Amino acid sequence: MARSYVAEARRRGLGTRKERIRPIIDRLAAEHADATIALRFRSDVELLISVMLSAQTTDVNVNRVTEKLFEKYRRPEDYLAVPIEELERDIYATGFYRQKTKSIRGAMRVLLEEFDGEVPRRLDDLLRLPGVARKTANVVAAELGHAQGIVVDTHVRRLSQRLGLTRNEDPVKIERDLQRIVPRADWARFPHLLIWHGRRICDARRPACESCVLVDLCPSARVDVVAV
Ligand code: SF4
Repeated sequence: MARSYVAEARRRGLGTRKERIRPIIDRLAAEHADATIALRFRSDVELLISVMLSAQTTDVNVNRVTEKLFEKYRRPEDYLAVPIEELERDIYATGFYRQKTKSIRGAMRVLLEEFDGEVPRRLDDLLRLPGVARKTANVVAAELGHAQGIVVDTHVRRLSQRLGLTRNEDPVKIERDLQRIVPRADWARFPHLLIWHGRRICDARRPACESCVLVDLCPSARVDVVAV
């Protein structure tokens, strides 16, 4: 499916991926000027915890849980000072609470032992924290102003494919394709732009192509709204 969108871009004469990426970014930036991370946090550690909790659940749900959680747990040590069952209860509503508790405690322990309790900026260091996989590390590094990759979530994957920016299905390969064409200065905000566009306009089942600012750059724009 994704493969045909790249070919379709050629067929419709929309230009190469490299030619289309600048106007795609600029138009999305103008359209979604408010596109930022939806998680609420006040410190680097709160950012890390929020992103870890956001696996398999919504940002709204995480914010609901962390509102109370961050009042109670203020430093990395606090997550290790309570019995495991207590932390499990405190994050229960985010789902997968046993695994998340294990990951959070492991990550806080390594933060304290190896990084003086500070969240590292380098992707390789972030990946050394238990329970921190590439997507989490990318989100945290980008929010800390040190983007070293491009976050690929379900929206980024769908939109990158629909826009004919990748032929791939695997998130790591999609990220590699995007890194080749998205200017480095835009690595942090590009996923936010796609995520917000995906939520507001380019819905998985019912893309609103008639209201989309990318309609003349998108190989999967519905043919009833674009002259092909
Ligand atoms: S034109 Fe349609 S399919 Fe393409 S990005 Fe816009 S809403 Fe999505």
